[in-house]
Amino acid sequence: MRIVTSIGEMRDTVRERRGAGQLVGLVPTMGFFHAGHVSLMQAAREDCAFVVVSLFVNPTQFGPGEDLAEYPRDLDRDVEMAEAAGVDCIFHPEAREMYPERFLAYVEVKEAGEVLCGASRHGHFRGVATVVAKLFNIIPAHRAYFGLKDAQQVWVIRRMVRDLDFDVEVVACPTVREEDGLAMSSRNIYLKPEERKAATVLYRSLRLAGDLVAGGERHAARVLEEMNALIAGEPLVRTEYVEAVDWETLGPAGMLRGEVLIALAARVGKARLIDNILLDVPA
Ligand code: AMP
Repeated sequence: MRIVTSIGEMRDTVRERRGAGQLVGLVPTMGFFHAGHVSLMQAAREDCAFVVVSLFVNPTQFGPGEDLAEYPRDLDRDVEMAEAAGVDCIFHPEAREMYPERFLAYVEVKEAGEVLCGASRHGHFRGVATVVAKLFNIIPAHRAYFGLKDAQQVWVIRRMVRDLDFDVEVVACPTVREEDGLAMSSRNIYLKPEERKAATVLYRSLRLAGDLVAGGERHAARVLEEMNALIAGEPLVRTEYVEAVDWETLGPAGMLRGEVLIALAARVGKARLIDNILLDVPA
């Protein structure tokens, strides 16, 4: 497995593979791998002849006061895990390589970047869209793999690809969970044992939503109320939002029908955790 740090070398490597007729897959990450990341690498490995994982803690998607400096990092372990997953190449640039002095060009996916997580993390999705656009230009892959754990990110990237005519297929992969349901996240490392236990209420609340809808409930407000009541029973968990939105538009869903995203964000200790489920609600 090769580790490439320069944009020029990375671009040449991928061009060569494409020129040889190989299908190229890209898995963008910020590292500190867990089974969620590995599932994306495996999906890419199954589809593609050449798999590139980018590993870059992207400063522009962190706001002031967020955890950019403390974001967990372990390059040696990541390299081992990627190698074991059959990855061909890791792109691991320095921040200076990605953001030269007087960097001025950004990509914004308007309203959708300002709801849900975008409402509290100003500029977050602008940073995400910008770095992913750069990665698509540096690593001209046929397919790029993203996790539905970050459903709004998938939405934003798909819209960017559509609106700006990127020639790449966005593949969305299911959320990988711990045995007790907690969505795997690099940030779970921040949780103290009692917080780790309390955090399971997040997925339990999403399952409750699924059960209510399966039982015939169609009013989003009632579903969200029950979710909030369940989460309120865990004093270590402070919700930032619990929302139901239309998966087509990310607009608020009053009545639940069609593809609906139920999404939440919460603070547990010093971790900010997100989770969601996608429901296909029959009329
Ligand atoms: P990150 O390193 O957290 O930026 O994540 C890199 C990619 O892995 C993103 O596409 C995430 O959505 C995806 N990912 C993170 N956690 C999970 C998970 N638990 N299940 C599936 N994909 C995930």
